[in-house]
Amino acid sequence: MNDCIFCKIAKGEIPSKTIYEDEMFRVILDLGPATKGHALILPKEHFANLYELPDNYAEALMKVARKVGLLMKDKLSCDGLNLVQNNGEIAGQTVFHFHMHMIPRYEGDGQVIGWKPGEPTGEELEQIQSEILA
Ligand code: 5GP
Ligand code: ZN
Repeated sequence: MNDCIFCKIAKGEIPSKTIYEDEMFRVILDLGPATKGHALILPKEHFANLYELPDNYAEALMKVARKVGLLMKDKLSCDGLNLVQNNGEIAGQTVFHFHMHMIPRYEGDGQVIGWKPGEPTGEELEQIQSEILA
C-alpha cells in the first residue's frame, strides 16, 4: 500500500506525535481530536479493517489499548475512555488502514459517542440470533 498515509505514519516515514510504540503498533495523537489526548492505535503492517486483521495483531491490540488507556488515566486524569473502531464507509471509516480510536473522556467535555437504541421484540432478537448462528 504505497499511498497509504497510515502505513507511512506507522512506519515512521511521516512524523507523528507518538505516545506509544512497539514492534507491531504505533499509537499517535489524532490530528482532529474529539477530546484532549484522542489517539489512534495503528498496526505497522497494512490491514484495511478488522476483517483483515490477523489473530496475532488482534490479540496484541487489546494489551496495547489497556497499556495506553492506563497511561491516559494516569497522565491526563481523564474520567473515562471510549474505544471506537470503524469498519467501512457506512460505519464512519475514512482512512482504510485499520486503526482503533482511544478517546479519553472528561466531565463536561460535550462530546457524544453513541447511537439511538432500538426496541426489538423478543422474536426479532431470536430471528437475528438464528440468522447469525445459521
Ligand atoms: P476514521 O474516521 O477512519 O475512523 O478515523 C480517521 C481518523 O484519523 C480521524 O479521527 C482523523 O482525524 C485522523 N487522521 C486522518 N489523517 C490523519 C493524519 O495524517 N494524522 C493523524 N495523526 N490523524 C489523522
Ligand atoms: Zn496502510
